[in-house]
Amino acid sequence: MRRALFNKNRGDYVECCLCPHNCRIRKDSRGLCQVRENRGGSLYTYSWGNLVAASPDPIEKKPFYHFLPGSKSFSIACPGCNFKCDFCQNWRISQADITQLAEKEQAPEKVISEAKATGSRSIAYTYTEPTIYLEYALEVMKQAEEAGIANVFVSNGYTSAQAREAVIPLLDAVNVDLKSARDEFYRRICAGKLEPVLESIRDYKQRGVWVEVTTLVIPDLNDSNKELEDVALFLAELDPDIPWHVSRFHPDYKRGGGTPTSVETIQKAVSIGREKGLKHIYPGNIRLQGGEDTHCPECKNLLIERHNFSVKQNNLRKGVCPRCETQIKGVW
Ligand code: SF4
Ligand code: SF4
Ligand SMILES: [Zn+2]
Repeated sequence: MRRALFNKNRGDYVECCLCPHNCRIRKDSRGLCQVRENRGGSLYTYSWGNLVAASPDPIEKKPFYHFLPGSKSFSIACPGCNFKCDFCQNWRISQADITQLAEKEQAPEKVISEAKATGSRSIAYTYTEPTIYLEYALEVMKQAEEAGIANVFVSNGYTSAQAREAVIPLLDAVNVDLKSARDEFYRRICAGKLEPVLESIRDYKQRGVWVEVTTLVIPDLNDSNKELEDVALFLAELDPDIPWHVSRFHPDYKRGGGTPTSVETIQKAVSIGREKGLKHIYPGNIRLQGGEDTHCPECKNLLIERHNFSVKQNNLRKGVCPRCETQIKGVW
């Protein structure tokens, strides 16, 4: 266990300021994420370097489609999450009982050396919620930056402004889940709130972090036209160049008895995104002919052809469409 950052001792409790839950944690108790504990009036984290995943992956799997396409991203995770999504596909590690996991501390140096050895151009903090293991992530991020390796977060966006201040100078790209445009969804399904997620997306965008957004489309939960329109509209108003990944739901965790999202619904989400003005929409968790490809929004030229997370051809010239010379936003 390590001392946790981003908290204040308030006398009979410690307030954790790492995420918008602002848990008030009494002695010998833990916060909602279950990995931060008040011991004798000080807050400790169980999550420091306690890696439950560490391996290279195509960056397209995270997913990032406009950030170093075709590169490998060394993907790490420590246990815990500040949401309780009942559809979580990583629930075994995001909702893990920390006392049942072997406690180990992987040195940040080891992550960097493995990332280098596997030819990874970035480190992805993913699978669970990187905010929850931020003390460790920051250590790794600093060393990655020194080694010329990029840092990318795959996040639910539930991060306090104070924590973002620490992260943003070291963060190259973030894929934020925007699970719904309804606060009621976040409260009922995730144990969170909508507005802090929107605020994170705006903040990352305005401060120059490369942003992509993912929406897991779940039957009868967030798949209505209105719901998808509202998500797409928020993104289009912020920046129509934000890549939007609309992912197919597969039954899991407490929704193990549900039905997968239909192909038609994913196609509907793609159409809605286009109608609202988004230029790059990618279906996820589903094989659709050409669905992984990047096209020029102006002349429709094929720019990047992908198949099964692998780049087959990349026709971009320094981020520019070779046919009509439109600049395609991204980190190429
Ligand atoms: S990081 Fe964990 S303990 Fe801290 S406020 Fe969020 S849920 Fe609570
Ligand atoms: S935010 Fe992601 S990791 Fe956390 S519970 Fe929800 S789906 Fe799982
Ligand atoms: Zn073009």
